[in-house]
Amino acid sequence: MNKDMLDGGRLLPLVEDFYTIQGEGYHTGKPAYFIRLGGCDVGCRWCDAKFTWNPKHFPPVEVDRIVERAASYPAQAIVVTGGEPSLYPLDYLTAELHRRGLAIFLETSGAHPLTGDFDWICLSPKKQQPPLAEIFPRAHELKVIVETPDDFAWAERNAERVGERCMLFLQPEWSRYGELIPAVVEYVKRNPRWNISVQTHKFMHIP
Ligand code: SF4
Repeated sequence: MNKDMLDGGRLLPLVEDFYTIQGEGYHTGKPAYFIRLGGCDVGCRWCDAKFTWNPKHFPPVEVDRIVERAASYPAQAIVVTGGEPSLYPLDYLTAELHRRGLAIFLETSGAHPLTGDFDWICLSPKKQQPPLAEIFPRAHELKVIVETPDDFAWAERNAERVGERCMLFLQPEWSRYGELIPAVVEYVKRNPRWNISVQTHKFMHIP
């Protein structure tokens, strides 16, 4: 999408926004208002949001409207997700949300330079388009999706690049959850600096 069409971030390609419970990672179980932006060029085989990939399906909408809606719910936290939100200028969105006293959590693959001001950055690296070096030290949480046993070594390589206080999570890929979870449990028991993240929203049947 041509960034000139976004009026410096006052317009963004919104897929959907909704109030729910954060289902995975460090903030699991916390009520949060989700802002899902369209467009992603990372192409994960198992992506559960493939409908977001093509930004042309999501014409830019006014950020002021999104912020107004978000602020009308009792949520104290906002999750900015996608797609890949870092494709877009996010300074205006995050400034307006902060002006209303909302905490902002970002979900990103780290594949693009990051704009905006976030209270929590969840970095979920993808092998086919790894994060930019500059994103690793900014991550509060590293969430590595485990698809095969080889992914433990990939997770460790990423963990070497984040800051000391970054929380580490391994998350079994949902479509193979039953097959993968025993190995993830055993790995975390042997390597206790890691934690397990499961997609609890899928068990709860909520978005
Ligand atoms: S980075 Fe996220 S949105 Fe993009 S393809 Fe991978 S899982 Fe899907």
